[in-house]
Amino acid sequence: MKTVVQCKTCKKEIKINGIDSRIELKKIKGREFELYCDNCKQKNIYGVNSVYAKISYFKYFLILIITTVISFLLFIYFYKKSNHNPSIFYHLFYMIFVPWMFFFVYLKEENKSIRNFNRYRI
Ligand SMILES: [Zn+2]
Repeated sequence: MKTVVQCKTCKKEIKINGIDSRIELKKIKGREFELYCDNCKQKNIYGVNSVYAKISYFKYFLILIITTVISFLLFIYFYKKSNHNPSIFYHLFYMIFVPWMFFFVYLKEENKSIRNFNRYRI
């Protein structure tokens, strides 16, 4: 997930890095804080509740690629290893199932974090 606030002047998203919750943000920056927008070069005051979490598509995409590569490498590995072994389909199952399981668990956890962040208001 990524945490952003919408610029009050140009409506573009300003990223806020390194926070997991609004409570944490309040502890670090206070209930209200000033932010500078790189797009319109304006400074505005924002409240903790105006910050929200959303999906980071870049991160999803990256993890999707990593999962695909791991699946592929596992496939090569098991394919070579079980050259004359009819149980290749058994390995095939695990090499696809295991990495993709991790991917979907990750997606689920990520969505949960986003929901939790957005639900908790101060
Ligand atoms: Zn702006």
